[in-house]
Amino acid sequence: MTHDGRNFDDVPGAARAQHPQTRAVHPRLTHPTGSTPLGVPIYQGHIFAFDGADEMAAAFEGPRSAFFYGRFGNPTVRALEDAVTDLEGGAGALAAASGMGAINAVLMALLRSGDHVIAQSCLYGGTFALLEDLAARWGVEVSHVSGNDAAEVRDALRPRTRLLILESIANPTTQIADLPALIAAAREAGVTTMVDNTFAPVLCRPIEHGADIVVHSATKYLGGHADILGGVAVFADEVVHHRVWKHALELGAAPDPFAAWLAVRGIATLPLRIARASETALDLARRLDAHPAVTHVAHPGLPGHPQHELARRLMPDGGGAVLSFDLEGGREAGRTFTDSIRLASLAASLGDVSTLVMHPASTSHRQLDAAALAAAGIGEGTVRVAVGLEHPDDLWADLEQALAKTS
Ligand SMILES: *Cc1c(COP(=O)(O)O)cnc(C)c1O
Repeated sequence: MTHDGRNFDDVPGAARAQHPQTRAVHPRLTHPTGSTPLGVPIYQGHIFAFDGADEMAAAFEGPRSAFFYGRFGNPTVRALEDAVTDLEGGAGALAAASGMGAINAVLMALLRSGDHVIAQSCLYGGTFALLEDLAARWGVEVSHVSGNDAAEVRDALRPRTRLLILESIANPTTQIADLPALIAAAREAGVTTMVDNTFAPVLCRPIEHGADIVVHSATKYLGGHADILGGVAVFADEVVHHRVWKHALELGAAPDPFAAWLAVRGIATLPLRIARASETALDLARRLDAHPAVTHVAHPGLPGHPQHELARRLMPDGGGAVLSFDLEGGREAGRTFTDSIRLASLAASLGDVSTLVMHPASTSHRQLDAAALAAAGIGEGTVRVAVGLEHPDDLWADLEQALAKTS
């Protein structure tokens, strides 16, 4: 054991007696004793040495065993998993290299060919595509529900229904899924529920409403600074955690420790960031609602939102930092608006410190015709705003000057 400087104290002169070539690959590492680093250290190393074979054998057993190889676990990645476990009130978590990595690990671990999934129809595009792929190539059957009505879930149940997939806040409609009612309907039938809570970290805690699994794209609010890709799945039950962890080893979706470290650092300010951005989003939603160039505004905090009361129950501290609105001038106005913004950026994604704006009809949803757009709750002139941490007055000045150009 040459990684511990103390061992050389036992053998005076041992280090000096070895050749530089040997010393070069056995650097001394001083482990802190009697003090602990306050910041989480970045363990970039992915191989861990043991004192004996029994200790090493035990490290292969599960997601909470000792570290031995980076794909199975890493102390910095574990810090991220523990942080999100606390955030969501779960029993354990699995971090992945992206949100899709986490979602893929869950679906591939829990589904077999011939199984049936009930999915909310507004699901994130990547999740939707994954389900279509599983259906085409693995014979997984998928039914869609709106997310508003538990009776739809009961009607969709089949003998081989395994999974219900919901999103706490949907994009870009800001629809709120009726988590307690839908999850209860699934639970009565022994069906596992996975909630994608990417849009509402801290604000909504789906495990408190009965969810079995919560997933996050850490790329968004958890990281929070547009500089990492990451994902986390949190489990209410350690048995399910273990099962998905075992599959994740085969999938190879482990995150890089540096990305995990940035996510841990991001989480330190997450509650403050999401609270402020959510407040600003509601403020902007109210101002947009009163603007003549705007025909409709969607934010769960507006009294006119179809699930406003539900949002107040599920997320009493704020309805999220994403809003969308429809421009009077339709598609052309949507393009003009996004071409005209100056302070906010024309960009995909969300959860950054700065505000991101996009026009789904001409970008992310450009393949959809008018009917398909309408079915997804998106208008030709719908603009999505993922609100950041700028002062609301400065953001409003930017939105207002861009709105003026649309009429
Ligand atoms: C971005 C996103 C994902 C996918 O996350 P990646 O980190 O991009 O893989 C999943 N769900 C939602 C709701 C998202 O916004």
